[in-house]
Amino acid sequence: MVQSENVYPDEIKKFGSLAERWWDPDGEFNTLHSVNPLRTRFISQHTRIEDQRILDIGCGGGILSEGLARLGGKVTGIDLSNDLIEIADLHGLESGLKVEYRKISAEALANEQPESYDCITCMEMLEHVPKPDSIVQACSRLVKPGGKVFFSTLNRKIKSYLLAVVGAEYLLNMIPRGTHDYKTFIKPSELTTWSRNTGLEIEAITGVAYNPVSRKFSLGEDIDVNYIAVFSRA
Ligand code: SAH
Repeated sequence: MVQSENVYPDEIKKFGSLAERWWDPDGEFNTLHSVNPLRTRFISQHTRIEDQRILDIGCGGGILSEGLARLGGKVTGIDLSNDLIEIADLHGLESGLKVEYRKISAEALANEQPESYDCITCMEMLEHVPKPDSIVQACSRLVKPGGKVFFSTLNRKIKSYLLAVVGAEYLLNMIPRGTHDYKTFIKPSELTTWSRNTGLEIEAITGVAYNPVSRKFSLGEDIDVNYIAVFSRA
């Protein structure tokens, strides 16, 4: 796999090496399990899910893909990790939730199926690729006119370095050390500019905050650390 394909092979290896732990609610991906009900609720507040064609980019083991399928979405999940696609498929057999998983890049799928999806989700993935703006552009090509695109990522602020890297990886051991590199974090203004340049207009943005005392996540106005934004395609 060459870098011009907009992928860091080491990132795929890193996530893939933990594939078997993906669905352990107390494992390394516990935070994804914890935020999943919040993000599926946010998505359903901004778009219809039932019977809609939904594409989940960078789906990993399928936590969000299955959450959306459970709400009646016709979901396709794509990722570049063989190990994760395998785990996602296996978990689908266990849960009985039908999701079509494929190993293909967003850019290649955009060539194959332009304007095909009512809704696209791309969560906690943009900060792991060399050219996040290329993923944003692919989303704009994949979504149907009038459709919605949801991104979540980490804001590039000192506060997010302190909370998401030092706090979550080193002090609280919430996520594996080395998961995130501060340099790759994305400011909402950057995401909004890339989106606008490709015909996606911002509709809403919400912060995802963690309370270390209650150990609970919540959505709110503070977008300094982790945030979810929804865009619509004209
Ligand atoms: N979106 C999922 C998983 C986030 S972890 C969730 O929020 O629950 C990041 C995922 O992005 C991993 O599964 C990793 O394999 C995937 N990924 C990294 N680079 C990618 C790329 N270029 N194309 C597709 N998936 C990629």
